[in-house]
Amino acid sequence: LQGLMMDFPLTLLTIFRRAEALFGHREIVTRLPDKSFHRYTYRDFTQRARRLAVALQELGVGRGDRVATLMWNQYQHLEAYFGIPAAGAVLHTLNLRLHPSELAYIVQHAGDKVLIVDRTLLPLYQQFKDHVQLEHVIVVGGSVPAAAGPDGGTLLDYEELLAAADPSRYREPDLDEREAAAMCYTSGTTGRPKGVLYSHRALVLHSLGTALPDGVGIGEADCCLPVVPMFHANAWGMPFTATMVGAKQVFPGPHLDPVSLLEDFAQERVTVTAGVPTIWLGILQELDKNPGRWDLSSLRAMLIGGSAAPKGMIRGFQERHGLRVVHGWGMTETSPVGTISRLPADLAGAPADVQYEVRAKQGRPLPLVEIRARNEQGIVPWDGQTMGELEIRGPWIAAAYYNAPEAADRWTDDGWLRTGDIVTIDPRGFVEIKDRDKDLVKSGGEWISSVALENELMAHPAVAEAAVIAVHHPKWQERPLAVVVLKEGHTATKEELIEFLRPKFAKWWLPDDVVFVPEIPRTSTGKFLKAALRERFRDHLVA
Ligand code: ADP
Repeated sequence: LQGLMMDFPLTLLTIFRRAEALFGHREIVTRLPDKSFHRYTYRDFTQRARRLAVALQELGVGRGDRVATLMWNQYQHLEAYFGIPAAGAVLHTLNLRLHPSELAYIVQHAGDKVLIVDRTLLPLYQQFKDHVQLEHVIVVGGSVPAAAGPDGGTLLDYEELLAAADPSRYREPDLDEREAAAMCYTSGTTGRPKGVLYSHRALVLHSLGTALPDGVGIGEADCCLPVVPMFHANAWGMPFTATMVGAKQVFPGPHLDPVSLLEDFAQERVTVTAGVPTIWLGILQELDKNPGRWDLSSLRAMLIGGSAAPKGMIRGFQERHGLRVVHGWGMTETSPVGTISRLPADLAGAPADVQYEVRAKQGRPLPLVEIRARNEQGIVPWDGQTMGELEIRGPWIAAAYYNAPEAADRWTDDGWLRTGDIVTIDPRGFVEIKDRDKDLVKSGGEWISSVALENELMAHPAVAEAAVIAVHHPKWQERPLAVVVLKEGHTATKEELIEFLRPKFAKWWLPDDVVFVPEIPRTSTGKFLKAALRERFRDHLVA
């Protein structure tokens, strides 16, 4: 017997119309390149996004066409987040930290037709423009320079286009919820970048899932500041979710240094923010130097993900500054939030150590998302001990990459996504990431978690950052090597750090050596670039 309910499509258009109808007065704030603040309301935002949709339609952008963006976190990017899908097209966010040749590859592979680029990033576009076939390039954030656009044509001015677009000419596309709304390429730490193509349905359900109190937890009364770039897996969905519920939104623009962010948090009374551990490490150091300088009493949740949030950092924020870190895990392929670590209700009275232990894990899956882990013996038990590769399925998990049939082996025969992350799952269903499969240290056939060693090292008072990598060993094939950055003005010896780890690990897990470096190389999304470290130290123990 079929239910008798409407087959109402879950599209970003419904989120957009809701924001338009209910939240016109709510505020959106952007830190501009000159550090001043731009302020306007949801009313301005929705009107301008609608004008953008009209302008794109009149430039010949149609259903399913890809429109790329090359922008910081700024209000025009939010307009593109909704204006592009409202035109029936696909928002393709480009990572401005990539090399021009990589950007050229991605724009070509995606078949982008139009690019919307921030004035400050035009020099980057100029470096790859001869290798791509865009039909139009639209410049935001200032008058357009005389420089030529694609095929010797001219660059278009975003403000002029919006001014000329008559909202009454908007033709709302009759979208199917399974149509593509957005696109993002994986950052390629594992081979050529691959395109993930988000459907409207996936983004709507992801917005609902993350808005839940035990998800990221966002409501109208919140003020959201995504530090995570809008080109990194849709800023973890925060702009969609915040718009759906009518939260105030604050965009930091290009100013991602700790002091600017702390000023933003305090001045705008930010309640929820999100970013990768590197950003928070800098913020924690700044707060330790200047405790009490900023009034952060409004801040309720700092979502940290993208790489493991070390327990010492979670503790440091809480105990020294009264700030709550919420740890989450996800991938570009999972829209991106898959798991969130919220303290289970029955642990509310548990000792602090137990609570931190649980909160430092990557967490339980959001509703509608299912997980399991597998090793050579099969599906692993949820015992918190046995390691296996995490597999995941759900309505906002990618089922394939865009035009990449060669990557079909990322999915199991029964349709789960293989994440490439090696995890344990505990009896409560909490996932703990032990490693990415290619970063595991395989010592004499046994696995050593580089992440576990790093987390403990980073709890040492003299250590700012630590990456543990596998290096060649004549007898054990691979052994762990710790690569450490010391905090300014601190010293520590190899012996001291190994002694610090000794009580916490089996003897054979302890790194064979510790090297001190001024900094650890990073990927375009702020993760340790372990491939570069492995290359550099490959023969460290052999030589
Ligand atoms: P890329 O795969 O190119 O690095 P993604 O941004 O999609 O790009 O990265 C997803 C990966 O990031 C996950 O598979 C996982 O390895 C890592 N990751 C994300 N969140 C966490 C976390 N909280 N703890 C540890 N690793 C994480």
